Amino acid sequence: MARKRVYEIARELGITSRELLKVLSELGMEGLRAVSTVSEEEAEVIKELLLEHAGKKEAAPEAEVPAEAKEAPATAVEEAPKKEEGKPKPGVPRPPVVAVLGHIDHGKTTLLDTIRKTKVAEKEAGGITQSIGAYQVEYNGRTITFIDTPGHRAFTAMRARGAQVTDIAVLVVAADDGVMAQTVEAIDHIKAAGVPMIVAINKIDKPNANPDKVRQQLADMGFVPEEWGGDTIMVPISALKGDGVDELLEMILLVADLQDIRGDPKGELEAWVIESNLDPSRGPVATAVVKNGTLRVRDVIVVGTTWGRIRALIDHQGKQIKEATPGTPAQILGLSDVPQPGERVERVKNPREAEKIVSERREAQKKPPEPRFPRTFEELFAQREKKKLKLVLKAATVGALEAAKLELGTIQIENVDIELLHAGVGPITESDILLAASVEEGEPLVVGFGVRVDPKARKVIEQYGVPVRTYEIIYDLIREIELAGKRLLGPQYVETKVGEAEVLRTFKISGVGVVAGCRVREGKVIRNGKVKVIRDGEEVFTGEIASLKHFAQDVQEMKEGQECGIRIKDFDKVKPGDILEVYEVKVIQPA
Ligand code: GDP
Repeated sequence: MARKRVYEIARELGITSRELLKVLSELGMEGLRAVSTVSEEEAEVIKELLLEHAGKKEAAPEAEVPAEAKEAPATAVEEAPKKEEGKPKPGVPRPPVVAVLGHIDHGKTTLLDTIRKTKVAEKEAGGITQSIGAYQVEYNGRTITFIDTPGHRAFTAMRARGAQVTDIAVLVVAADDGVMAQTVEAIDHIKAAGVPMIVAINKIDKPNANPDKVRQQLADMGFVPEEWGGDTIMVPISALKGDGVDELLEMILLVADLQDIRGDPKGELEAWVIESNLDPSRGPVATAVVKNGTLRVRDVIVVGTTWGRIRALIDHQGKQIKEATPGTPAQILGLSDVPQPGERVERVKNPREAEKIVSERREAQKKPPEPRFPRTFEELFAQREKKKLKLVLKAATVGALEAAKLELGTIQIENVDIELLHAGVGPITESDILLAASVEEGEPLVVGFGVRVDPKARKVIEQYGVPVRTYEIIYDLIREIELAGKRLLGPQYVETKVGEAEVLRTFKISGVGVVAGCRVREGKVIRNGKVKVIRDGEEVFTGEIASLKHFAQDVQEMKEGQECGIRIKDFDKVKPGDILEVYEVKVIQPA
């Protein structure tokens, strides 16, 4: 008996899967996903329920038809099915920007080529199709933007520069080869980027293809296919023959709906350079992907340390366009210099402002480059407050890696999370460094166990100043990571009460403030101490001692029974009868 996917029902109803699922959950039908299958009868029931629901909503005074329900319904008190829901995002749905990642030779380029060849709408015959670094396809009347450079190096290099370009990642895994080292790497890079992932199980046309093995391998890594009851969308395809490519596109749109990817054409410009070069006849050219706002011909823009007035915008089919709206890639002509991929395109008012910004940035660049991350452990962890250590761990063999991971798991430091961004076998590579450099929250650290740093990686280490350490002995590695974790907390402060004084009278001294004449009741009072003012048993102020005097003399310490004058920093409301508790603060450096 034929079964139907929930997203197919949504399409038949003319609404998005997201909207359909929202209404179903309002009606108490939880647990369904857009990719879930239902029987024909169930599909009919769902449709009827939906139409009935829409009817009720229409009848209600402030009714909303689900098809137009862009915001959380007023009646929805229960938990939203997706955490992105809640407050409505501004703007309108825009084309998702998709990157393709995976192990070498698993078919990333073939997939991008097939999609381009079969799905790019040939609007103008004879038009010269040129590669601008990204292209757009039309599917089911909707648009998807693909980044043309596959692989996680390019993906993460952009993130290391701060660019957030990709909305959805497609992980290509060849069904005849299974999960390989770079598959694992790609997964870790996708996870670190926090973008949703769709798996394309490729080369299913091959006689030795074993898609189930891929499913199992990924499930073992925690990515359970949705057809096995998990959350990970996996689509079997043949990039070469084109089988399954439609379903893959369908899934991309589905995820785009679920993520509620939006852009506001009238909003603030957010656009990132994804590719650039110096063209012998056209000068500097750069392709930018617009995520929000609209980029227009004649706009004055600044990109890193270059600027220009946009002379022309060219789309992925080589056509001149007047403007690029959210989700659209466009090649920009008119810049004075070639910008770096990953740099942001900023619109400014006029050339004068652009020149000013650029000259300031160039000036700042002349100073010795300040590493984004300090280089040594000491520098790295001194005085830092962030409490997340994000590791990239490389080891010589699988056995060594497993051993190191096991030992790592035993490290427990209060208030510090040690997160493994990526663990792999082999030397420390450029992409490991880029992954660490792209860490936004927490401190990155790249550690090698019995491995070297790849020469290419050295250059990027310089560039980003990512801390990298290599060890030969596992206990050294673990000890250093533990220390690094502790240093993350910074020095610890311990307060010890050393004594207390009673306020006998107060004096107002012009230009100085109020001085409390006290007698030390217990212990001692110290000049550099912290003080708590206790009145009728309640703490009314906590601060520092600003001065401690014995008659007119500045003193460091007064003992029990002695009388002294104490001025409290920023507190003049001290009164006779107050008790001043004095504390010594000790700084304990992490061992
Ligand atoms: P990339 O390194 O991931 O970009 O891989 P390519 O796209 O260059 O593909 C590597 C090889 O696998 C090429 O020889 C492709 O023709 C072949 N290939 C890619 N996809 C398929 C597929 O679906 N079926 C078969 N049989 N071969 C494929």
